[in-house]
Amino acid sequence: MGKVALVTGSSRGIGRAIALKLAEDGYDVCINYEKRKDKAEETAGLARGLGSRAVTFQADVSDRAAVERMFAFVRENLGEVDLLVSNAGIAGQVQIQDITKERWDRFFQVNVNGAFNTVQCAIPHMLHEKKGCIITISSMWGLRGASCESAYSATKAALIGFTRSLANELAPSGIRVNCIAPGVIDTDMLDELPEGVKDTLADETPLGRLGKPEDIADLVSFIASEKAGFITGQVITSDGGFVV
Ligand code: NAP
Repeated sequence: MGKVALVTGSSRGIGRAIALKLAEDGYDVCINYEKRKDKAEETAGLARGLGSRAVTFQADVSDRAAVERMFAFVRENLGEVDLLVSNAGIAGQVQIQDITKERWDRFFQVNVNGAFNTVQCAIPHMLHEKKGCIITISSMWGLRGASCESAYSATKAALIGFTRSLANELAPSGIRVNCIAPGVIDTDMLDELPEGVKDTLADETPLGRLGKPEDIADLVSFIASEKAGFITGQVITSDGGFVV
């Protein structure tokens, strides 16, 4: 059996780039998605072309029973998960006076409870083996504030606290837990930004460009590797110098 990675939200965007990079690194990967089966199948096809025994699984990460079904499916088809990348997330800009309770709750259900659900399903095997790697995908907006991002920022800051505490708790069991805080990365997530904001964000980035999904995938590949074997509990930015 080869190494197995589960990447949540890997049908598109950053998650897709991570899944493909891990396929290149020799992992069998599970491509998780919520709605876009077509994109998930496309990603799995690309991963198989790189030699991975890639599978797809539809599961809303906020739904605990669905996440449990996904882990059972992966166990049966690929083996136990050695590397979990908790990437699935939702974003959106909204003024604090306009955000509904339902929308606020949904941000937390997906971005925070989704990470909790997948981590809790992944660790029994890792604890048993006394090894494993967990990477959460936060955001630079979890490190600093931004107007109209209070709900998103709150969830991404929560992920950072979750990661740091988990790293302390799981280090004696040989499990490393780290967090990546991307800057502005050019994916579908930016589609709902008002006209011109993408260009402004690129200008505000000291390196003068938006990030690519592959920038984050390369970092995941490093953190997951033996080369990062002494790194745990860290929040690592890849943001072109946005948060310094
Ligand atoms: P994206 O292009 O919008 O893709 C989102 C991915 O997450 C898709 O695969 C989507 O699946 C999946 N997803 C959404 N809700 C889900 C749910 N409830 N259960 C399972 N999967 C779900 O987003 P992205 O830009 O790649 O972002 C990926 C992660 O990076 C997110 O956590 C985001 O907050 C974080 N991030 C992004 C940026 C950025 O600038 N893009 C910056 C910082 C951090 P479907 O295809 O099925 O809809």
